[in-house]
Amino acid sequence: MTELRVCTRCVCDDSIPGISFDTDGVCNLCKNYDLIEQEFPLSEATQQRFQQIVDSIKRSQRTAKYDCLIGVSGGTDSIYTLYIACKYGLNPLVLHVDDGCDTEISIQNIQNAVNRLNVDLYTVKLDEKEIVDLELAFFKASVPDLEVPPDLAITASLYKCAAQFGIKYILVGSSFRTEGKMPPGWSYGDGKYLKSVHDRFGHVTLETFPNVLLKDYLYYFAFKGIREIKPLYYLPYVKEDVKRLLEKELGWIDYGTGHHESIYTRFVQGYLLPKKFGIDKRKIHYSAFVRSNQMTRDEALAKLELPACNDDTVRADMLYLRNRFGISLEEFENIINSKPRAQSEFDSYYPLVRRLQHLITIAYRLHLFPTKIYGSYNRE
Ligand SMILES: [Zn+2]
Repeated sequence: MTELRVCTRCVCDDSIPGISFDTDGVCNLCKNYDLIEQEFPLSEATQQRFQQIVDSIKRSQRTAKYDCLIGVSGGTDSIYTLYIACKYGLNPLVLHVDDGCDTEISIQNIQNAVNRLNVDLYTVKLDEKEIVDLELAFFKASVPDLEVPPDLAITASLYKCAAQFGIKYILVGSSFRTEGKMPPGWSYGDGKYLKSVHDRFGHVTLETFPNVLLKDYLYYFAFKGIREIKPLYYLPYVKEDVKRLLEKELGWIDYGTGHHESIYTRFVQGYLLPKKFGIDKRKIHYSAFVRSNQMTRDEALAKLELPACNDDTVRADMLYLRNRFGISLEEFENIINSKPRAQSEFDSYYPLVRRLQHLITIAYRLHLFPTKIYGSYNRE
């Protein structure tokens, strides 16, 4: 096996599709980070920009029951975004999408936060037959985008709920300082793609699953005027400090490393993606921490030497998912071990996104286009 080339600044290596290095060995993802940081430097002025956004949200939602909508998973990013919204005097509606895979800690985290902050919680319970059929379809499709069904259900539910309650602002709990952008070759999803995979490998008719197609996005953006805002881009966000703050203020419980608030996600990111596709998303996540000085490069490299998930957890999660899918362990193992398929075997908006890339980049910068279908480089 050839040795992977690792960026001299972060821990991204050439297992990542679309990565390139300059003469100093610094990768293009680090360059992207610097560009975003130039736009959102840690300063009084940046925080002031966020205060202005908050003021304009309050003005425009004056007659509405809620100022904004926040989707929560129970993890640090979403709960902290909720905390920030309340600190800035907003009255958010909190949305949680229950796909049946929440860990107990994440459910407790949501409940504690909602109680202590005295905000309303709106839970969307996905039809279990439909979500399970979709998840299994993605496993059978043998593509790396296994998180599309739960992720898209959250995005679609947020827009649907915002429209239903007359809310124009969705506060998204992501930060470039703690979470890098996944290349489309490692993670890509849209409503057309979901439908294409399900048409080929699904069995259950989708009647209630909240899918979202391009025409729906256009309706929400152009007609309903719904916009996404990322508060954590404007504010300091040191994850370890925030965890301690949330523990103290909201009775929040740490669920350990990574995006493991869901059993499904834990199995996919912690075991299946590294094993089957050579995709270790921790490289992207840790690199963001390294760039924002929340982890040293050596610490990150040492952590990457360890498995993303311990064997006992993998075994337990595998059993859980096999039961969820209602198949035998042997059948599940066969599906897991089947040969990977190219994402391009399925229909999606990706070819369109590629063709319109320059236009989309401009529209995205002007906040006219949804983040979800903004792709910046090749899948291959
Ligand atoms: Zn780098």
